[in-house]
Amino acid sequence: MKRCRILLILLAVCSVSVFPEDKLTGTVIGSELSVDYNNTSAPSRTVNTRDMAFDGDMNTCFASWDRSYTWVGLDLGEPYIITRVGWSPRNDGVGPQRVQLGVFEGASRADFMDAIPLYIITEQGVIGRMDYADINCTRGFRYVRYVGPSNARCNIAEIEFYGRRGTGDNSHLPQLTNLPTVSIHTVNNQEPYDKVNDIESYISIVSNGGRQLLQDTAYTRLRGNASMSFPKKPYRIKFEHKHNVLGAPANAKKWTLINNYGDKTLMRNQLAFELSRRLGMPYTPFCTYVDVVLNGEYKGCYQLCDQVQVQKQRVNITEMSPRDNSGVALTGGYLIEADAHANEEKSMFRSLKGTGVTIKSPDEDSITAEQKSYIKTHYDKMESDWRKYLDLNTFLRHFLVGEVSGNTDTYWSVFFYKHRGNDTVFTGPVWDFDLAFENDSRTYPINDKSDYVYRSGGSTTGYMRQLADNVVINNAEGKAMLLSIWAEAREKGLTEEYMLDYIDKQAQLLSESQRLNFIRWPIMNQTVHRNPRIWGSYEAEVKNVKNYIKRRIAWMDKKLGYTYVPPVAALDDIESADTGKPYQVYSLTGQYMGDNITSLATGVYILRQGSAACKVLIP
Ligand code: CA
Repeated sequence: MKRCRILLILLAVCSVSVFPEDKLTGTVIGSELSVDYNNTSAPSRTVNTRDMAFDGDMNTCFASWDRSYTWVGLDLGEPYIITRVGWSPRNDGVGPQRVQLGVFEGASRADFMDAIPLYIITEQGVIGRMDYADINCTRGFRYVRYVGPSNARCNIAEIEFYGRRGTGDNSHLPQLTNLPTVSIHTVNNQEPYDKVNDIESYISIVSNGGRQLLQDTAYTRLRGNASMSFPKKPYRIKFEHKHNVLGAPANAKKWTLINNYGDKTLMRNQLAFELSRRLGMPYTPFCTYVDVVLNGEYKGCYQLCDQVQVQKQRVNITEMSPRDNSGVALTGGYLIEADAHANEEKSMFRSLKGTGVTIKSPDEDSITAEQKSYIKTHYDKMESDWRKYLDLNTFLRHFLVGEVSGNTDTYWSVFFYKHRGNDTVFTGPVWDFDLAFENDSRTYPINDKSDYVYRSGGSTTGYMRQLADNVVINNAEGKAMLLSIWAEAREKGLTEEYMLDYIDKQAQLLSESQRLNFIRWPIMNQTVHRNPRIWGSYEAEVKNVKNYIKRRIAWMDKKLGYTYVPPVAALDDIESADTGKPYQVYSLTGQYMGDNITSLATGVYILRQGSAACKVLIP
């Protein structure tokens, strides 16, 4: 009886180990050259070879000659659905940390161009121990590999793959975190290196909890200005076909991957775009958080955003052709940018008042001399006679986004557009907020200043500061419009509570990805770009933004002469409030009285806590 039970248990154990998965074997593939650490670190084909990642010996390892983008894997001969991966670090002092952020990939092509990341190692390894991770992937791959993290020389003692034979389907593919995973593979592992040369690529995006896959041939290059100089690079991707990438409104080929290197909250652009939506800009760029992997190497948390270009659901103006050289056809549409970096661009002009302006559309390859001359002349007219040619509505909404967010770059780079058959120049979209929300040492702390950011230390280009002064400061009509736009946005829900809640939601969404990002880029305790202070943790960085926005909305109310009336219409009874929690006190007419009741005169007041409000009697 006893023996039977033991037999049954043994059978159960056996069935687990042979079905449904097997430890897979195949032809070992990978980076060819290894490094011989014992021989002046010379290149080798006999020592620390890739076979040593599959020899079952924890004391031997594969160590590649090149420092980054090196890998080792298996050609399984036919597709297998991978169910589990295992790894063990090299047996030496730096071995354990050199597996952290290592990525496993599966591909149908021998060159791994169509590879999907299966797993990212998030912790350091333990010498002499195999670690395992289950893989939830329904698609079979013939080629599987482990790509070492940056600057690790792959350095891996053992790799194991488990799985079952089958081609499977795309019904579920892995994401590295809760965010969509954007995986870029380039021909010959080339790294994008400038803003001009497109690197032939293949891009796979897994999203919607692993249930959605977008794959297409694409081109990848760098983008940006200051942001391009950071080690975490921003990319411009261009698909061969148009896609509504990740549910974006625009069906388009070109998209941007914003690196947010100096923004340690990784959310400043998204917050500003939310302000843009709340302040009623006609078009706010689409933007969503993603994880980016380039040739199997984890690059960090990015924002996948619209390319600012002429397109339906983007800057929706008539796209010009080189034949549009006279009459109404010559009048638009144009997309231009008053841009401090304009002199680095091929297609640009300098206005009579000294503003460098880049012409974005028509693009530099197709614009005609007539078109260039027309838009320059028209821009000059706008700068000298803005009352006639500048659309105040978009200019002022754009201004408010810049000031509420505390963007020191508002007038360093400004997009404008012009429709065909209409003399008005419109401002927008808003763009580039990595220095906003209290992230610039030149203006920190913004809320302590009595004047607008753009007048107290912000960067401006050409005539932009004077133009803003003309419209916003020295113009009664502009001031009145600002107040009415602000009042409308406030009444429609642009409140402190709303923004704080929005920030909390972003932080929650980013929590897994930001952790990986700051392992990849350990800058939390460094001053990067123009950081005014080191806050020391992701949570403290987010708190800084929250503290800023709390004060900023009140600052804007005061500056614009707006009184926020809390929603008290439904209040009748005098209640006792819990003054242990933070609160704000208002008079019955809605005037802000401060955040403390102790010094107030006797009377009835309105006390707000978060979205709740009640009447209180101060005896
Ligand atoms: Ca080994």
